[in-house]
Amino acid sequence: MKEQLYTIPLNDAFAANDECPFCFIEQKLEQDLLDFTLGSGSSYMESDIRDLTDKEGFCRYHFLKMYQYGNTLGNAWILKTHFQKINKEFSSEVKKFKPAKLSFVDRLKRSKEINNTMTAWTYEKQRSCYICRQYEDTYARYLDTFFYMYKKDADFVKKLENSKGFCLVHFGDLCQSAVEQLNQKQCDAFFATVFPLMEANLKRIEEDVSWMVEKFDYRNADADWKNSKDATQRGMQKLKGGYPAAPVYQQKK
Ligand SMILES: [Zn+2]
Ligand SMILES: [Zn+2]
Repeated sequence: MKEQLYTIPLNDAFAANDECPFCFIEQKLEQDLLDFTLGSGSSYMESDIRDLTDKEGFCRYHFLKMYQYGNTLGNAWILKTHFQKINKEFSSEVKKFKPAKLSFVDRLKRSKEINNTMTAWTYEKQRSCYICRQYEDTYARYLDTFFYMYKKDADFVKKLENSKGFCLVHFGDLCQSAVEQLNQKQCDAFFATVFPLMEANLKRIEEDVSWMVEKFDYRNADADWKNSKDATQRGMQKLKGGYPAAPVYQQKK
């Protein structure tokens, strides 16, 4: 059964018991994708993979991750043929370039609508990313597996109830999938579980960061840190996902 492929990592993510099991999965998938793209398997030397990276490129976020990963020659190979593709596309965009004719009123409005093909092309290039695309495909399978287990596995529901909830980013995706994948009765039960869970855990973080501020008061110098020592990174994660304090992920030497 294909769900089993994702069941174990999802259980591991809940066992890690940090601020968001989906952040945990995201970090692991991203590291695997960096290893695949730039690691010792040298997939960047295989023509079918390079065809894909030439075509899709990488987003700014993943270029940063790739640079930090540290395989300079691998990055150069990937960039070399990607540039060849980009430069061909650029020339053809230049040839077909024809900006929209704007009326005087349109000019005053400074509309957010894209009014020329070159901008449309560059925006598309910014969005397109070989790593993001693969991540999104796998992430979607994890969301499916989450609800598969939620429906079938009472232990998994317990794990959810005893968890620290999710970051707001992944929680939003989870709510979207819940409506798609659960019937009315299951949906009501799911939201009756996760809304109070999220409220309690968001409140907990609010208290942790508040205590951190108090701890900097000299009168509290000797007071216990309680759970506040790492409150900033956990607070940032809870709001936007990811691990701000995680070390840079680099190629294994
Ligand atoms: Zn998350
Ligand atoms: Zn990306």
